[in-house]
Parts: sequence; structure tokens; C-alpha cells
Amino acid sequence: MIEFKDVNKFYGDYHALTDINLKVEAGETVVLIGPSGSGKSTLIRTINGLEPVQGGQLIVNGQDLANPKTDMNRTRKNVGMVFQHFNLYANKTVLENIMLAPRLVLHRDEAENKKMAMELLDRVGLVSQANKVPSALSGGQQQRIAIARSLAMKPKALLFDEPTSALDPEMVNGVLQIIKDIVNDSSMTTLVVTHEMGFAKQVADRVIFMDKGQILEDSPTNEFFAQPKEPRAQEFLSQII
Ligand code: ATP
Ligand code: MG
Repeated sequence: MIEFKDVNKFYGDYHALTDINLKVEAGETVVLIGPSGSGKSTLIRTINGLEPVQGGQLIVNGQDLANPKTDMNRTRKNVGMVFQHFNLYANKTVLENIMLAPRLVLHRDEAENKKMAMELLDRVGLVSQANKVPSALSGGQQQRIAIARSLAMKPKALLFDEPTSALDPEMVNGVLQIIKDIVNDSSMTTLVVTHEMGFAKQVADRVIFMDKGQILEDSPTNEFFAQPKEPRAQEFLSQII
């Protein structure tokens, strides 16, 4: 469902992704790790067209995003993204945050849209917050809303970019639990950039280690945590665990 073939990405002269080859099957859960600046955010942002790529092929749901003629809107409909800093609409209520894209993009019937939004709020434990604005909620609550908002589009794939890095420590586990439930209950393809290694061990089918814009290792989770093959991955792991 997602396939990178010799994908390259430049920011001006800066070579941010070098010859990326990566295949993620439908329903798989992949965790991406690596040092700051290694290209993790850049890589996942290319998957929903937030960052254009400059070479190779990047096939998402059968569409090649490296081809400038590709209609990115179709891809964005199918690929949800959850950011470190939530990126909720500040001047809209929680409920409206969830209902907006399905209304505008999918033209979902209003009653059905509201029913689905309330079900999602129930799923993330925040029904009582439906009519508040995001700033009235804690960081952990805001991130749970951002997750509900992504799910409302019923995406085929969901991308998480350090979803718990901006949270107070006591908020982290609640958000990770919701992501775990999503991974267990659905057939969505999921990519997660995270430094939470306990979580990675529990949810990931594979772990990808990036450094300097390249994928250095792509291993099944148990093999990776038993002993990464790459010396730089070993060193990285020893520093963060
Ligand atoms: P972190 O762990 O700090 O989030 P990362 O692995 O997500 O790091 P990226 O954000 O993908 O790394 O950045 C990879 C490289 O590309 C970095 O050197 C960064 O400075 C550079 N970069 C990222 N975004 C831009 C941009 N919009 N313009 C120019 N350079 C950029
Ligand atoms: Mg990043």
C-alpha cells in the first residue's frame, strides 16, 4: 500500500532523503526511529504529500506521489496524520474539529457525521468535552481529539509524528494506549515516529532506523530489540533506553 522506490528529497540544496526504498503492506504497523535531523518527519510527511519528493517513485494506494500530475487530494483523503503539536483548529469546538473534514471533503450527511464524531469522542474518552475549544483541554486530551479527528476520515493509513513528545509525562500513557487500541482493532496501515521504545516493542511489526536521510536498518521488531544489526542503531538504542 506504501512503497518507496529510490526516493530522494531535497530542501533547496540540502539532501534530506537519500535513495529511500521501503515497502509497507496494508495493515502493517511500522515504527521509525533515529537521531534528531535524520529525516523521520520528512519521510512520513512525504506519504501524504505534505512534502514533495524529487526522484524515484512513491506509491501510496496505487498513486505515484513522485509524479507531479498526481491528484494529492485523493491521497490526503486516505492518509491521516497526527502531529507532535496536535494542530487542532483553535477557534472551533472539539466536535467541530472532528466534523469539519468529513463534511467538506467527504460530504458526509450532517446527522451521520455528528453521530460518528460522538462515537469517536466516546472512543477517546472525551464526550464531555465536545463543546469546548481545544485550548480549554490538556495536551493529552488535545492529542486524543487530534487522533479522533484523523479517524473520522476513515483513512487507509495513519501517520503519527512523535505524538507524545510534547506531552507532560502523566499524559503519555493514555495517548499511547489509544494508539495501541487503534492498531489492535483496525486493519489500518500505521507508521509511528516515536522515542517510546516500550510502546514500539508492543505495537510494531517492524522497526526502521534512520540516520542522515537514509534507512540504515529495517528489521522485525523482536530482532531489532534483541540486537540491532547496524552499529549506529545499537549506539542510538543504548543512548535512549
Ligand atoms: P527530529 O527528531 O528533530 O524531529 P527528524 O528526524 O524528524 O528530526 P526532519 O525534521 O525530517 O528530521 O529533518 C531532516 C533534515 O532536514 C534536518 O537537517 C532539517 O534541518 C532539514 N529540514 C527539515 N525541514 C526543512 C525545511 N522545511 N527546510 C529546510 N530544511 C529542512
Ligand atoms: Mg521530526
